[in-house]
Amino acid sequence: MNILMIGSGGREHALIKKLLESPKCTKLYCAPGNGGISRDAETVNIGVMDKEALVAFAKEKNIDLAFVAPDDPLAAGLVDAFQAAGIRAFGPNANAAVIEASKVFSKDLMKKYGIPTAKYETFDNAENAIEYLKAENTAPIVVKADGLALGKGVIIAQTVDEAVDAVKSIMEDKQFGESGNRIVIEEFLTGPEVSVLAFTDGKCVKPMVSSKDHKRAYDNDEGLNTGGMGTISPNPYYTDEIAKECMDTIFIPTINAMVAEGRPFKGCLYFGLMITPNGPKVIEYNARFGDPEAQVVLPRLKTDLVDICEAVIDEKLADLDIEWDNGAAACVVMASGGYPVAYKKGIEMFGMDENGQVEGATVYHAGTKYENGKFYTNGGRVLGVTATAPTLDEALAKAYAAVDKISFEGMHFRHDIGKTK
Ligand code: ATP
Repeated sequence: MNILMIGSGGREHALIKKLLESPKCTKLYCAPGNGGISRDAETVNIGVMDKEALVAFAKEKNIDLAFVAPDDPLAAGLVDAFQAAGIRAFGPNANAAVIEASKVFSKDLMKKYGIPTAKYETFDNAENAIEYLKAENTAPIVVKADGLALGKGVIIAQTVDEAVDAVKSIMEDKQFGESGNRIVIEEFLTGPEVSVLAFTDGKCVKPMVSSKDHKRAYDNDEGLNTGGMGTISPNPYYTDEIAKECMDTIFIPTINAMVAEGRPFKGCLYFGLMITPNGPKVIEYNARFGDPEAQVVLPRLKTDLVDICEAVIDEKLADLDIEWDNGAAACVVMASGGYPVAYKKGIEMFGMDENGQVEGATVYHAGTKYENGKFYTNGGRVLGVTATAPTLDEALAKAYAAVDKISFEGMHFRHDIGKTK
């Protein structure tokens, strides 16, 4: 099969490594890819939002399966564009990807179908939002821009004044552009967070093994929120009992709600959950694999990923048994100094020879480029260094041993992945 991966991050590299394990995958392309991906697949210099060029490329190369991994092209209807051209594509249609692209949509969906989530109100003008904040007079309180904002559109305000400032910067100063035309103001929840990705064909939902993200830039969960500084799988807070409760009160009801709304979701649905004292609640949905959650979940997948993609597309997921490794996985993100704010690019990287790496460790590339036999940094999150092992402690030790073999000027990583709540 000729397969085309769309995207350029560590998540896409993890997906590519998994697709390469399939005997069905004979040729793999990635648009646009990155330095590490270029060693595993043929990279094509087409941007993820260039629908016309991607469809034309897929037709020219007789692509049998296109895999759309990032949120923006899903929300913009890239899967719909592939389908219209007769190309099979993995990922939700735009009308289902809205579950991530609009927080107002997802909150209203949860309210309508009784899916547990934080209490909230939505607003389309700053004045009413500020009036509401002052009348409620509670803090902490959470202010969220409606649309996609690269994970930065959520403000946990510690005081009412801070919440008012957040409303002003989102709705009046347009900090996140059109994404801030509407906002959600919601109750502040407490409890450990769990990420659960699930395959779904719109009828059946099969959760993957759980994971835990570490969003803050520095050790002890200090510093700014990032795209994710590391992950572990499984998540120790996700017990069998909680998993069952999530299946009954969240996963199945969400899939059924999307069908009832005429927006069946096919692809990978990400449930960002918080295990509150009152049970698990949905913090957010993503319409795709999380990054870096994919880097710890996929290495534990034993079933052929191509078979899963086909079962999802053909709505035959119920007939497929999906098997997982019983052990654990850990991913440590190596970032450029200064990330998530300002950072340099184009810095030479050392210790990148896979043969010299730790056994059982895999280096997934995110912001890298490959030129004349050398790797250079090319983004904020540079690498996701991942290891699998029978236990989490062993996986963490191996991942950090692999990190120690790599160096580049200004590199930054957290030392406490898997150790914080
Ligand atoms: P991303 O897609 O990068 O995960 P996002 O912009 O979609 O982020 P959310 O996941 O909704 O944002 O929120 C980001 C983080 O803010 C959550 O992981 C959680 O830690 C915190 N958060 C969000 N909503 C709440 C809430 N109601 N109570 C407490 N914390 C919250």
